[in-house]
Amino acid sequence: MDAVQKQCLVGMTLDEITGATKDLSLPSYLPREIAIWVYKRGAVSIDHFTNISKKHRQELNERFEVGLSPYVKVSTSTDGTRKYLYKALANRYIESAYIPDIKRHTLCISSQVGCKLGCLFCMTGKQGFQGHLTSNQILNQILSLPERRLLTNLVFMGMGEPFDNIEITLKTLEILTAEWGLSFSPRKITVSTIGIIPGMKRFLEETKCQLAISMHSPFENERAMLMPAENVYPIRKIVEILKAFPINKRRNVSFEYILFKGLNDSPRHINQLARLLNGLKCKINLMRFHPIPESPLMGTDDKALIDFRDRLNAKGITATIRASRGEDILAACGLLSTKEINKNMSK
Ligand code: SF4
Repeated sequence: MDAVQKQCLVGMTLDEITGATKDLSLPSYLPREIAIWVYKRGAVSIDHFTNISKKHRQELNERFEVGLSPYVKVSTSTDGTRKYLYKALANRYIESAYIPDIKRHTLCISSQVGCKLGCLFCMTGKQGFQGHLTSNQILNQILSLPERRLLTNLVFMGMGEPFDNIEITLKTLEILTAEWGLSFSPRKITVSTIGIIPGMKRFLEETKCQLAISMHSPFENERAMLMPAENVYPIRKIVEILKAFPINKRRNVSFEYILFKGLNDSPRHINQLARLLNGLKCKINLMRFHPIPESPLMGTDDKALIDFRDRLNAKGITATIRASRGEDILAACGLLSTKEINKNMSK
């Protein structure tokens, strides 16, 4: 007899748990209790649901499992940052970065295996697109994290483009923010995107989470060279939509801007940024470039970075420099997983 493929509870919304357990004649309060065991109490086995009767646990065990998978590798930086590697597909891996700080403990999570958008500065883009992650695989990065109980902030800035996997991203955000789920405040979750417009509109309408847009240049031809998606989703249009959208004062909109030496770090760029963002409540996060192999791009030095920030601030645009973390453990997103794929292929 074929073994029955069990359904994973991690990744299901409360409505999905209710629907999937309907024919088990459970008491009506039990689906919620199951969600609380899985998401809040961190149970790794149905046998740990101790306030649910043995008979009901047995019935659940026949069809379901909690569905957590441990990481396969961890690298720890001298600054305390840890990169965790999880297996996603045969010989494919995804990365999550745990970044501890004095008050904030942030986890940077992945939403896809590889990415189809091919940004010039990104190692994940060089892997090509391998597949979307499921809600189970996205939540597993949080629930299987040894430091899970310390987490204060989540950022969708790991591998992949969250709005290219929009249904799963929205469902995962529902589980992350629900009171029966992980109860994260939407103010503590930031989703980063290159600006896929249909996904961005749904995100703005259906969630209260924070939005970060990868900008990297205010000039269309230059941005298109760095990020081919500019040809479909122009930054001018993205900003226009954001200006027209009633942004709640509890929602932050930020733009990420990696400074590349001699490419996007001139006074001309500062002036154009000020023109483009005029009238939009937002801030710019300036980032150092983490070099990737075989790339002609070079990062701007720290002095020029500080100067760029100060000039933006002088123009009335709030700009901050994001601290680089985990430099010694392959900081650029996608490098660690690429190394693991190459290692396995050469065996
Ligand atoms: Fe994809 Fe983001 Fe990398 Fe661009 S930067 S290729 S959108 S993962």
